[in-house]
Amino acid sequence: MTTHVTQGSAILPMHSEGRGVITGQQFLDRLRKSPPNLFIDGQQVQDPTTHPATKNMAASLAGLYDMQFDPATRDQVTYEEGGNRYGMAFMVPRTKEDLRRIGESHRVRANYGLGFLGRAPDYMNTNLMAAGMGAEYFAQCQPEGDHKVDFAGNMRRYYEFVRDNDLCLTHALTNPQVNRAKMASEMPDPYIALGIVEENDQGVVLRGARMMATLPIADELLVFPSTVLKENADKSRYAMGFAVPCNAPGLSFQCREPIDVGRSTEDHPLASRFDEQDAFVIFDDVLIPWERVFLLYDVNLANKAYAGTDAVLHMAYQVVNLKIAKTEAFLGTAQSIVNAIGSGGFQHVQSKIAEIIIMLEIMKALEVAAVDGATLNRYGVMTPARGPLDAARNYYPGVYARLPELLQYLGASGIIMMPSKADREGPLGPQIDKFLQAGNATAEERLKLFRLAWDMSMSSFGGRQSLYEKFFFGDPVRMHSALYEVYDSSEYVGRIKAFLNRKDGTQ
Ligand SMILES: Cc1cc2nc3c(=O)[nH]c(=O)nc-3n(C[C@H](O)[C@H](O)[C@H](O)COP(=O)(O)OP(=O)(O)OC[C@H]3O[C@@H](n4cnc5c(N)ncnc54)[C@H](O)[C@@H]3O)c2cc1C
Repeated sequence: MTTHVTQGSAILPMHSEGRGVITGQQFLDRLRKSPPNLFIDGQQVQDPTTHPATKNMAASLAGLYDMQFDPATRDQVTYEEGGNRYGMAFMVPRTKEDLRRIGESHRVRANYGLGFLGRAPDYMNTNLMAAGMGAEYFAQCQPEGDHKVDFAGNMRRYYEFVRDNDLCLTHALTNPQVNRAKMASEMPDPYIALGIVEENDQGVVLRGARMMATLPIADELLVFPSTVLKENADKSRYAMGFAVPCNAPGLSFQCREPIDVGRSTEDHPLASRFDEQDAFVIFDDVLIPWERVFLLYDVNLANKAYAGTDAVLHMAYQVVNLKIAKTEAFLGTAQSIVNAIGSGGFQHVQSKIAEIIIMLEIMKALEVAAVDGATLNRYGVMTPARGPLDAARNYYPGVYARLPELLQYLGASGIIMMPSKADREGPLGPQIDKFLQAGNATAEERLKLFRLAWDMSMSSFGGRQSLYEKFFFGDPVRMHSALYEVYDSSEYVGRIKAFLNRKDGTQ
């Protein structure tokens, strides 16, 4: 690669000048001042706060930031420390009660998007909290060469930098899907996968791409080491961990086709608010300053960083709370449809609602079990139990597809026969009002409800959600294998052996 197509300004040194939470307006002002290098439909987005494909998502993010000041939610989603107030996901849990507070905050924030905002900033914030506390992990990384870097200090300072400035982060872990049978080093070009080109006095230069970053409408991109590096060697140019501003020179986010197509919130209740976008990330010789580098070259450390810092467990704890909110939204919508069309007396309808209730209660139980079994980790952080969280993150992707399907069974033709707001206000409005009213609601109320069910289950927005739920925490096939590898069943194997050898009084 040769020329930089993006306009971003040079990366400034990190300053923790912030004092914690910011408002939605401050977030939008910052985004306008330092826009991420987004490309949509062949053009660079100059201002994500006004571009038609991103402005509503930016406004929704601003709404999340404003919750930190709203008297109704402030104490649920923020905490105080050293005279400053910070977002709750940055809080270091020391007790189970702390974990419960954090869990409640995750659910309150998730409810804002009915659980459909997969990568609200708290997801990455919990990652950073755990990595910042477990920063010593990165001190083990000691590459040869002229540049002696304080990786552990960098990790800790970056956590504080993000917390103090209340930054919004995106992340990108997987390499481009060119040939999954080959390692990154075996590709036709050594810099298809993101790789290290060189080190210099300022930092490290990176070239290549990453496949997917949800929520590129963000301040910074975190490339925490992923668990998917297949290189054979101990040292590899593809092993790395770092953070970079989304407007860095040479960095580009190629966004997918927008799902927010400019329809009203009444017609597209979710897509018009929560199109968090997914972007392909291109690094065209991006210089990452040393203070932003957390790990280099070490395949083993890169592959184990999530587990080694327990970041994966804190992220999974955010996820289980998010999915509880999402399942509650499905239950609320499904029951509202049943109420609207008077189908609640049919047994199979009751059974379908019961299916959602069972999924919800399983997720709630796993959340409680994760806190109940929490222990202090080696860094003094109260860490939720792995077993229930592994169960939740393997269970939910497997059952999620049933939720939109149940809405379709319950809503039937109602989920497709939904005249728009403009139709209701047009010449057929009076007939629409008459024929499409509900047993317990006006046509306007009924259509709003069914449009929500459609956006949850059938629209482009709903379709993307179905794909997202299958893969957002990794490939379900490999996640099952990982669970198989780590789960200790030896006690039960021993019990079976003892039973088979038991000598008792029976014949
Ligand atoms: C909507 C959406 C949003 C996402 N957001 C993010 C994000 O914000 N940040 C981020 O980092 N990632 C994100 N991801 C990526 C996610 O982490 C990956 O989709 C997931 O890890 C699977 O990787 P892949 O998509 O490259 O699939 P691939 O690895 O290419 O797999 C494709 C198929 O091949 C099979 N396969 C490939 N390799 C193997 C193997 N070794 N063993 C067995 N089977 C194999 C898989 O099972 C699958 O069926 C997102 C994905 C989606 C769909």
